[in-house]
Amino acid sequence: MELVDLISLRPVPCAGVLLMLTQRCPLHCAHCSTASTMAGPQTDAAALRRLVDSFGPENRPELVMFTGGEPLLRPGLVTELARAAAARGVRTALLSGMFFARHERVAPHIQEAIRSVDHFSASLDREHEREVPRAEVLRTLATLLDDGMAVSLHLTGHGADDPYLAEVTAQVRREFGDRVPMLVNEVRAVGRATSWATAARIVTGPDEASESTPDRTRVLPCAMAAWPVVAADGTVLACCGQDAVDRRPAPEHLLLGNIADDDWPTLRERAMNSPELRMIRALGPLHLRSRFGDGDAGPDDYCAACLALPQSTDLPAIRAFGAGPAGELLDRHATRTQAEAGPVALMRRFGCAKYAELVAPSGVSSGVSSGVSSGAPGGPR
Ligand code: SF4
Repeated sequence: MELVDLISLRPVPCAGVLLMLTQRCPLHCAHCSTASTMAGPQTDAAALRRLVDSFGPENRPELVMFTGGEPLLRPGLVTELARAAAARGVRTALLSGMFFARHERVAPHIQEAIRSVDHFSASLDREHEREVPRAEVLRTLATLLDDGMAVSLHLTGHGADDPYLAEVTAQVRREFGDRVPMLVNEVRAVGRATSWATAARIVTGPDEASESTPDRTRVLPCAMAAWPVVAADGTVLACCGQDAVDRRPAPEHLLLGNIADDDWPTLRERAMNSPELRMIRALGPLHLRSRFGDGDAGPDDYCAACLALPQSTDLPAIRAFGAGPAGELLDRHATRTQAEAGPVALMRRFGCAKYAELVAPSGVSSGVSSGVSSGAPGGPR
């Protein structure tokens, strides 16, 4: 399963689920806003098993993504969950900081965990290279490629013109050609738990950089509200943004439940049918504030506006609008539009636009259905 396949599913509600297996990480990257340390909490393994066991033939995501912290600190759990997911027809992907690449040999239980997933992605950036040398990361990726694994790199830089990004992407193209697709993001206060196929910076319009006055009423769907995210304390949110994942109590309009109590059908039903989530996915928070709230007042920042929706808007009015057939239709339309635009267009908006095409280098094409051709968000149920 290639990177382009994963990103093709990203705008489809409940086509994927992000499982944060731990908030622990042995690395000390300066920019890691999850503040992951070896003292961080571990997600309850039994609850994770129950969640995966609750996937049914007609009601399951297409993809489970393992994140952290560093998910390979729990290699046995990765292997177990990946096999359980595969037995239910669900594919898996994993994002790692590759702490193990610092050693000559990769421990057998980590190798087994990596080989149990359908896609392996390594995160890399300037700060990260102080912890794990780039040469070791690329050497390990080469070994995985030789073994037939689908791999990718998740790169982060300080803006589109960061020379680091130009240099590392050129090296990867030189050494691997099209065999290692790259998802390029820009640094902001997000950590690895939320950075997999998600937004480092949500661009509020294609020509935002040249606009002196951004249009604060524009309809801008949020694809990042499409997949449930399981945080380390078991809380399940509709949003992968670090602010939402970390905030307790969780923002009520983004809260789906907790894996201690809720199975996949329950979480999916809430995610698909929540009127306010439909409206965030379909119209975006700035338009909702403009239409149902205090107009153009409040933060310009897309996600800050979203987190403030309960205070800045008439949330019951949003719910009333999103609960009807119009809300469902708008949600379907936004999903279809974003899926049809394709993964490169999605990354132009949710990643670093200059490098968006690297998610789908020539010769690597999406082999998955977005599940929206029939107009049914979510693909498999
Ligand atoms: S707009 Fe809302 S749902 Fe979307 S990423 Fe931002 S905080 Fe999350």
